[in-house]
Amino acid sequence: MGGKKPHRGGGGGGGGCDCKRILKNNWLLISTVVAVVLGIGLGVLVREYAKLSNLDKFYFAFPGELLMRMLKLIILPLIVSSMIAGVAALDSSVSGKIGLRAVVYYFCTTVIAVVLGIVLVVSIKPGVSQNAADIDRTGSTPEVHTADAMLDLLRNMFPENIVQACFQQYKTKREELKSPPEKNSTNSERNVTSPEEIPVMNKTLEFKIVGLYSDGVNVLGLIVFCLVFGLVIGKMGEKGQVLVDFFNALNDATMQIVQIIMWYMPVGILFLIAGKIIEVNDWEIFRKLGLYMATVLSGLAIHSVVILPLIYLVIVRKNPFRFAMGMAQALLTALMISSSSATLPVTFRCAEEKNHVDKRITRFVLPVGATINMDGTALYEAVAAVFIAQLNDMELDVGQIITISVTATAASIGAAGVPQAGLVTMVIVLSAVGLPAEDVTLIIAVDWLLDRFRTMVNVLGDAFGTGIVEKLSKKELEQMDTTSEVNIANPFAIEPIMLENEDDAETKKSYVNGGFAVDKSDAISFTQTSQF
Ligand code: ASP
Repeated sequence: MGGKKPHRGGGGGGGGCDCKRILKNNWLLISTVVAVVLGIGLGVLVREYAKLSNLDKFYFAFPGELLMRMLKLIILPLIVSSMIAGVAALDSSVSGKIGLRAVVYYFCTTVIAVVLGIVLVVSIKPGVSQNAADIDRTGSTPEVHTADAMLDLLRNMFPENIVQACFQQYKTKREELKSPPEKNSTNSERNVTSPEEIPVMNKTLEFKIVGLYSDGVNVLGLIVFCLVFGLVIGKMGEKGQVLVDFFNALNDATMQIVQIIMWYMPVGILFLIAGKIIEVNDWEIFRKLGLYMATVLSGLAIHSVVILPLIYLVIVRKNPFRFAMGMAQALLTALMISSSSATLPVTFRCAEEKNHVDKRITRFVLPVGATINMDGTALYEAVAAVFIAQLNDMELDVGQIITISVTATAASIGAAGVPQAGLVTMVIVLSAVGLPAEDVTLIIAVDWLLDRFRTMVNVLGDAFGTGIVEKLSKKELEQMDTTSEVNIANPFAIEPIMLENEDDAETKKSYVNGGFAVDKSDAISFTQTSQF
């Protein structure tokens, strides 16, 4: 990787040398920021002076599309290899504790985000002075039903076919039955004959449920499978070691490919942002929905600048802003591409290389976090639901506010880490309090912009999670390290034993297990070796 050449501070260079080192360590971040500025400039110029046809706009955004394709390409090998290698490196009691801490953190921060969103929207009241009829509606309403969406979440955790889970997800669709409903049937409970044909009674119409598969990686299903697979091969000892080594090597290789993608990132980002500026044709809507946007953005700002850093400071007792700066590249990427899943490769690199978080934690906490921990999305869903209620002159009682909070939390867990996924699950929140689902069209026009900021907060929440879970799990991690070291004294131990050897700047630790010398540097060493 890039860190093979040692860069020592000596040599009498003083300030100039420092500058050079800062540039060298942060070249990617600096060039990405430059790319954003150039992209905005280019976008504005092309918009003003070149009259591009729709087709030309597509061609213009092509380099950006390539970046998105590369990032999406790497998600699958990254999630599979990091989860399996990560879980296999921990023993089951430790991974259980780490998992529980991570889930408690995800849950608490999501609830805090929702409560913050509700407090802001109820006090700012962005929808009260507005009328829904004044706001243009664009796009169509996605069809989502609360119960079906929740069950789909569970169904997707257990994919029928692991190969299919790599490119498709299960999605329930309701289909209206052709035959008219029976006159005297009032009971919604019926005998179920086949899972594909479960009749459901609506007020006047009868539906059947049809299972469909839609395109998109079933990340949740893969995570559950990899978690169990990693646990099992980690427990198999010598027999499973070959698989553990395979996934460790796969993870190393994947991260090296990520490094290559990073070189292309500034170019891709320049065209992504320029392409977006050219594409948007209704800037007027931002004025109309200004107060709503200000409410969401101030909520996201408070959550990311005050609440998350405060939690980090109280638990880890280190400077949270330094930690956040270490994540800058990932945050900027999230802002540009609106997808926490596609940002995952960059989040990994920042957490491990810049913030030196233990790889045993990141491999476990980040993929799960990118899938289920979405503070920004939860806050946005709560604000948007109350805003739509205000537009409809609907007074929300405490029960309805609690319903919004609970469903916004669930909807953020269910939202995929892809652009505008939150808008789709938003329908769940609206229908839970009896608001018209088609009213999501009122906020669609500004969603692409808010999506960028909430994705950034989603990624920041995952990142702080790694630091916090690492701190809380310090004892277990140290115990694992010392157990391995104690075993050096007993070369006949069945448990892996650890030898140390120096390789370049990196301290690698090799395990000897039943006669096999296995390099497991990834599971153990955390010395920074490369910058991006
Ligand atoms: N785009 C967000 C993410 O990827 C999800 C959303 O809120 O739409 O995290």
